[in-house]
Amino acid sequence: MKRESLSEHEPKINIMRSNEAPPDVKENPFYDSEFWGRAKSPEEVYLPDSDEGISFAMAAHEIGHLVEEGAHNDASLDNFEATKKEEQRAWDKGWPYLEKYLSEYFGDNTVEQDKVPVIYSKIKDLMMQATELSQGMYVDDNSLEKVDEDQQEALLVKRRNEFFVTHGEEIKNIFDQIKDQRTGKKTDWEKYVKVVSSAIKDILIDNQKMSDTAIEPIPIGRGEQIQNENQLAEIKKVEEKALLLYKRIVAVEKEKRQKLEQELKTDKADYELVYLFQKDITELEKLENDLDDVLIELSNKQFTSFNRLVELEERIMQKGY
Ligand SMILES: [Zn+2]
Repeated sequence: MKRESLSEHEPKINIMRSNEAPPDVKENPFYDSEFWGRAKSPEEVYLPDSDEGISFAMAAHEIGHLVEEGAHNDASLDNFEATKKEEQRAWDKGWPYLEKYLSEYFGDNTVEQDKVPVIYSKIKDLMMQATELSQGMYVDDNSLEKVDEDQQEALLVKRRNEFFVTHGEEIKNIFDQIKDQRTGKKTDWEKYVKVVSSAIKDILIDNQKMSDTAIEPIPIGRGEQIQNENQLAEIKKVEEKALLLYKRIVAVEKEKRQKLEQELKTDKADYELVYLFQKDITELEKLENDLDDVLIELSNKQFTSFNRLVELEERIMQKGY
């Protein structure tokens, strides 16, 4: 079924102040309403109503979690690497969306506006340091799966409290450095909510576009020589692999294009630009090779009709770049 488009339904965006956080959050010894934030969904966003620079830096990060492109959904307390990647991704993805609206908030006050990217960048580094330090709080990879759901929460609270005793001071030291980024100017909450909401709206539109470029699976049963359910499942699996790879290629292409546009505005020399994009090109080539392999794998399956393969390739190509 097709998802309703954003134009038909205004997205519900609800931004709350961090000091309105649920009680279980406030019990966390690391919770501090001055910079704590969370964005589980557009309807449930908590952001700090504190010093302007800190509020904007944290908004850039939290809304980054709402960007669906490349999200790491396996981030949890038993998977440190995935959590770290997701934190870094949120920092990188959210900023461009928020940056566009800074002038709407600051108006002619370019002096204050210019402080924001600097503070964002410092807080990003500090927060990633804190994430790195928090590795000690994580349990062995995926070991939580073996624990009963109702015991998981208790285990996490226990580990967090133990960690607070052993590493609390180091983390607090980082948090103090975050607080050092204060500009001395309090956030204009109403205006802030307005511009952050605009940024979130843009994210939701892009998320929608991403899901629209997803390729519909080909209906089974038009002239294919499918003999049993297992064959059908196998074909579907390989096709899904192809579609996933293609989606990733589109995402990398888009990222590469955005980065290039950004870099072209700087005064980097051509050879520097080439060097910068070599890495992306390598990743892209690898993905394209993988896609070719999967398509070959599919064509080698004797029970896949030639028509079906052609149709899949056409669907992939038609989406265009
Ligand atoms: Zn985060």
